[in-house]
Amino acid sequence: MTASIIDGKLHAAKLKARLAEETARLKAEHGLVPGLATVLVGDDPASEVYVRNKNKTAEALGFKSVHHHLPATAGEAEVLALVRDLNADASVHGILVQLPLPKQIREQAVLDTLDPAKDVDALTPTNAGLLLSGRAKLVSCTPMGVMILLKETLGPIAGMDALVIGRSLLFGKPAAQLLLAANSTVTMAHSKTRDLAGVCRRADILVAAIGRPEFVKGDWVKPGATVIDVGINRVESEGKPKLVGDVDYAAAAQQAAHITPVPGGVGAMTIICLMRNTLIAAAAQGGVTLPEI
Ligand code: NAP
Repeated sequence: MTASIIDGKLHAAKLKARLAEETARLKAEHGLVPGLATVLVGDDPASEVYVRNKNKTAEALGFKSVHHHLPATAGEAEVLALVRDLNADASVHGILVQLPLPKQIREQAVLDTLDPAKDVDALTPTNAGLLLSGRAKLVSCTPMGVMILLKETLGPIAGMDALVIGRSLLFGKPAAQLLLAANSTVTMAHSKTRDLAGVCRRADILVAAIGRPEFVKGDWVKPGATVIDVGINRVESEGKPKLVGDVDYAAAAQQAAHITPVPGGVGAMTIICLMRNTLIAAAAQGGVTLPEI
């Protein structure tokens, strides 16, 4: 079997077009322009690239986009004061504080200060709790991207065995909640899981978010499974830097029915799902009901 490739770029482009339509409608019919504020502390080059791409995508969609760049030496009080100002700014509907933060700033203090209605990364305890109770409006971006890819590829997934490897707050935990809400039978695996290969071989949907290059081997994949590779790992290949996922792609593609590549799979969906959240947050704050997007 050679798997069909789940093209994240294609699905992201489709969603972007829908978001652009809804953004234009929100502006024309309600005079509402979604506003996204990004906050970057320090000079981590990867974070700078991520934030720049977020601002560029927001602008391309017709959002208001503001960026705050604080030095690596900024104190916690300064960051919290900025977050409070953005919470109070009615033209800002979504706030994204790029993680990780320098050591002197507690992530938890920032998340506890962020208005949950503007928490477009969906990392605050309020939004995590709303997801658990099935009432979330803002859902963590990468898990949401994965659910969109699964829906577009498989349709309903009720009754399927879904495995999530990794239990981070950013990805694994919200992904498992969303898969459960879609009525799949969910298993969560992590570094203490026994016989991970055996657990993988039972999965109809295998989602890997581990952060270890090509960790999931081809013969761990059940024939006909759908493999979603969330990992983004920078490795050297023939003396050149290269991105690989958490799954041995070439070998897994011989077993799976569908597979996401790295890059061009899940990663392509994350930023556009952040924009989706910003639009949803803007509509909610403006008292406007959006169609399902
Ligand atoms: P993380 O917070 O480091 O979590 C990694 C998870 O993997 C942990 O739950 C850990 O288990 C588990 N793990 C580590 N070694 C393992 C092993 N040998 N067997 C089974 N499980 C193991 O990472 P994350 O933030 O979720 O990110 C994971 C990967 O996804 C990274 O490569 C990251 O770059 C990527 N990512 C991509 C996007 C995107 O936009 N595409 C977004 C987010 C993350 P324990 O809990 O037991 O330690």
